[in-house]
Amino acid sequence: MARPSNFPPPFSARDYVAEPTDPADERIEVGVLVVGAGPAGLACAIRLGQLLEEHPEMAERLGEVPVAVLEKGKQPGSHLLSGAVVDPKAFRHLFGERFRMHDLPSYGPVPGESVYVLTRNAAWPIPPPPPMRNHGNWIFSLSQLGRFLAERAEEGGAMILPETAAEKLLVSHGRVMGVRTGDKGRNREGGELGNFEAGSDLVAKVTVLAEGTQGHLTGVALDRFSLRGEEPQVWELAVKEVWKVAKPLDRVIHTLGWPLRTGKKFREFGGSFIYPLGEDMVTIGLVVGLDYRDAALSVHDLLQELKTHPKIRKILAGGERLEWGAKTIPSGGFNSLPRELHAPGLLLCGDGVGMVNVPRLKGIHYAIESGRLAAEAAFRALQRGETPASALSSYDEAVRDSFIWSDLHEVRNMRQVFGRGFFVGGALASAMTMSKGRVELGKMAAEPDADQPLLVTDRDASYPAPDGKLTFDKLSSVFASGNKTRDDQPNHIQIERRVPREVAQLWAHMCPAQVYEVGREDADGTVMVDLAPSNCVQCGAITAKGGRLTPPEGGSGPEYTRT
Ligand SMILES: Cc1cc2nc3c(=O)[nH]c(=O)nc-3n(C[C@H](O)[C@H](O)[C@H](O)COP(=O)(O)OP(=O)(O)OC[C@H]3O[C@@H](n4cnc5c(N)ncnc54)[C@H](O)[C@@H]3O)c2cc1C
Ligand code: SF4
Repeated sequence: MARPSNFPPPFSARDYVAEPTDPADERIEVGVLVVGAGPAGLACAIRLGQLLEEHPEMAERLGEVPVAVLEKGKQPGSHLLSGAVVDPKAFRHLFGERFRMHDLPSYGPVPGESVYVLTRNAAWPIPPPPPMRNHGNWIFSLSQLGRFLAERAEEGGAMILPETAAEKLLVSHGRVMGVRTGDKGRNREGGELGNFEAGSDLVAKVTVLAEGTQGHLTGVALDRFSLRGEEPQVWELAVKEVWKVAKPLDRVIHTLGWPLRTGKKFREFGGSFIYPLGEDMVTIGLVVGLDYRDAALSVHDLLQELKTHPKIRKILAGGERLEWGAKTIPSGGFNSLPRELHAPGLLLCGDGVGMVNVPRLKGIHYAIESGRLAAEAAFRALQRGETPASALSSYDEAVRDSFIWSDLHEVRNMRQVFGRGFFVGGALASAMTMSKGRVELGKMAAEPDADQPLLVTDRDASYPAPDGKLTFDKLSSVFASGNKTRDDQPNHIQIERRVPREVAQLWAHMCPAQVYEVGREDADGTVMVDLAPSNCVQCGAITAKGGRLTPPEGGSGPEYTRT
């Protein structure tokens, strides 16, 4: 049976590590460089702003740009997509005494909740298991929260550079010096167009990588500094839609079961979420573990199928789809965290290193908390005037003392147990939950998603035909993401182009944005994979399943506004 990992992409992390090349007087120098304007990166920039306000002499020492944040999306928030039901405690830590939740652009506290186990036509309510209890949490659109946090970071003095992808990690004498940004204005073959702009070296005293899931430079840094944890990282793929609805939804809903199959051989783990966004919108999404084996599985199309369930159809009745998007979620948990979260001149936060509590489907408060702690560690090191690894190790200590560490430890094997099938996995997960993680299951090995042997079924035959009202095809979904990728830019998707048919089928079905097509078959039985990279919404699934996503030209990709 074919495994995607047997067909690795033509990608080497070494190609993305470089010495600065711009002449010294042309380099852009900043104090602290943050890569990624997500909750982690923006919390880091906000906290640095607070500290620099208290210590103007340090702001002075850091020069003209004490803090800069790079974001590859058109603007902060453009690439942010989440549930997003948020545990508010990290906001309190970040904004302090005077903070009120009503100051944030939220859709209010969770009004109530239900959990259902679905079969094709029925929905069986079950009491919410402890991880799914959301009393006290608040509902947000993460792309809107990102825009709000970016404004706060700018008010605190950070310079935000949107449409700028960090492409290479600058390392000199074993110390991270900053990043090189990607070129803009190249054609498909790499030639320079009339509007060509070369990338630049941005050098900093401390670089904080807060790139989120499948972070390109985070992966490069984990390899360069041998930081990977004992267990490999694994991911879920989530596809979601935002709907305008006729009737307000009065609670958050989670579902388990259908349209996923419970058979152990399929390894289908996941569930759906449906959250109200005020009086007239809901967000609905389906999350599926990328360790699944069926090459015919398409999370995009399973979400379309889910919406045809009588219970869910009723919620969406008379409504209209406003937006669509997709993203991966790191789900290896505690055992897949890196060995260390720092290297000389470097700190790593948020989803990039896998700070997600998968049974609770929560990562935003960990991202914010880790960003805040990274800012404090960077500031302490700068006060001492040095940033070797030893000066930044206080960040690891602070994370280990925080709720990030204790929460993730409590649910440490929760994702891995579902590799034993839905029912056995469910029983083991309940035992862990009831004992608050004290039941010792030992360290359960995680297998990389791309190592799963493939099987091919006719699952795709039963996906609903798109009707353009309730159910949609992938291309109209890409349109609803606001994707702005230029058609003729260089290909940013690295895959082995000639593979066994089942691997090509896997990629074609898996990609929610219809980037891959099964092409011509050769005499040896392998097929060519045809690519339409400009459809890509940068969800990251291909990196989990045997290829590699690299950042396209800055400003490309989705333009999320309500996700
Ligand atoms: C469908 C879904 C539902 C979820 N539901 C919830 C929920 O209800 N509650 C919850 O707490 N968590 C939820 N999560 C998880 C949560 O969204 C993440 O944990 C959180 O967004 C992580 O924040 P981050 O800042 O680490 O990364 P991100 O939010 O991913 O932000 C990273 C940013 O960095 C930018 N970037 C990345 N690489 C580069 C680069 N090389 N150069 C420049 N910019 C770059 C990206 O464009 C992005 O803007 C959900 C996730 C998904 C996908
Ligand atoms: S090509 Fe882009 S959208 Fe498709 S799976 Fe890969 S990262 Fe996701």
